[in-house]
Amino acid sequence: MKRFVIIGNGPAGSKAAETIRQMDHESSIFVITEEAYPFYYRRYLPRFISGKLDERDLLVKPLDFYEKNQITQMTGRNVTQVKPSENHVILSDGEIAPYDALLIATGGRSLVPNWPGKELTGIFYIRTLKDSKELVEKALPSIRAIVIGGGLLGLNLAQSLQERGLEVTLLVREDRVCANLLDKKASDMILKKLMERGINLSLENETKSLQGSQGQVRSVLTSKGEGLPCDIVCVAIGSKPNIDFLKDSGIVTDRGIIADECMRTNLQNVYAAGDVAQALDITIGQKRVNTSWAIAEEQGVIAAKNMAGVKTLYLGCLPASTEAVYDVITSSIGISNATESEYETLSGMLKDGKVYKKFVIKGDRLCGAIILNDVRDNSAIEKIIREGISIASVKNRLFDENFSMRQFLSDIKK
Ligand SMILES: Cc1cc2nc3c(=O)[nH]c(=O)nc-3n(C[C@H](O)[C@H](O)[C@H](O)COP(=O)(O)OP(=O)(O)OC[C@H]3O[C@@H](n4cnc5c(N)ncnc54)[C@H](O)[C@@H]3O)c2cc1C
Repeated sequence: MKRFVIIGNGPAGSKAAETIRQMDHESSIFVITEEAYPFYYRRYLPRFISGKLDERDLLVKPLDFYEKNQITQMTGRNVTQVKPSENHVILSDGEIAPYDALLIATGGRSLVPNWPGKELTGIFYIRTLKDSKELVEKALPSIRAIVIGGGLLGLNLAQSLQERGLEVTLLVREDRVCANLLDKKASDMILKKLMERGINLSLENETKSLQGSQGQVRSVLTSKGEGLPCDIVCVAIGSKPNIDFLKDSGIVTDRGIIADECMRTNLQNVYAAGDVAQALDITIGQKRVNTSWAIAEEQGVIAAKNMAGVKTLYLGCLPASTEAVYDVITSSIGISNATESEYETLSGMLKDGKVYKKFVIKGDRLCGAIILNDVRDNSAIEKIIREGISIASVKNRLFDENFSMRQFLSDIKK
């Protein structure tokens, strides 16, 4: 009988616990999380903030799931040290948890820039349910919010606050939103929607400092010299892996924890998965930290199988995300925004301008895509990229109204 310890109860840790239990009915499994809540949909926090979901809707598993599966869930407990030489972890209250195999699935935390004024109240970084509840308490209708950051999270937060009735300004450093995922055309379709909904946009503008009075944030001073007035600020400019507590553990880290093809660290019985792991990304052929719910789950499963003694290789992730910004359904798959000359890009509008598609191609291989408002081909596109299937025979039909990647894939698999 073994003792499995998992630090983190997000999709990576939870999926790992579930997978180990399916394979091993005897061993003890401990899942430790510093958060006070059972496993919840972190990805739906923007919908909780908007008021569309309540706290119960965020629960991923029934409350008795852990007990039924004999998984010990330790909530509100913080691991401060990993001691591989002793095969144990140490919690902040001094408790020691020994392990035969350990999974580190500690995710990430919000980036907090060193802006003058960052200590003022009224500034929010949304990573947890606790952060979201604190924001909801202050996000009263008609007050002014500035959302800093034009990535998907920034867009979702701007939408959530607008839907709560706040007056929202989105402050974006780049000349478009989701600059690392989308091209100008796709970004423009989203910006049009944001403007229609009354969100104020400030592009190519950077935060220089946060100004306040009586300890409360009152405005954001920008690189254009403006002082944008506000009552609250939401910062969504990225996250960084939770690895600080691994200092002196001997576990090799770079930006995240370096994981091999079994999601194992440099130590034989210590594994990593999810937002904290730096693992193979097939789009670049290198190890990279990817922050995605689906990737965290798939890595959690691979780590768990190997921990349970069934050698399973991780073929690498293909970053892909599909998100709704209001009713604009935005998908980006693989290398969606290549500028290098080795890539060819083909793009076009369909369905009377409602659907936008862009394909990134290298030779006769598809490397990535941006698709707005049509998700039907997404899994076929992912498969075509992953399997390196030649698209030479359909390259000139990609924008035919009646062409579908699903049909193409099914025809060549016959
Ligand atoms: C607001 C928001 C919206 C998002 N929306 C999307 C989306 O639409 N689509 C998408 O694909 N992704 C989305 N993401 C990203 C997605 O949620 C993450 O990629 C995913 O949760 C990562 O899973 P994980 O298991 O690696 O880590 P996490 O979910 O971050 O879980 C980490 C766990 O580790 C615990 N922990 C950390 N340090 C310690 C410690 N020292 N001791 C004990 N416990 C510790 C935490 O309490 C937590 O339980 C969103 C993220 C946020 C914050």
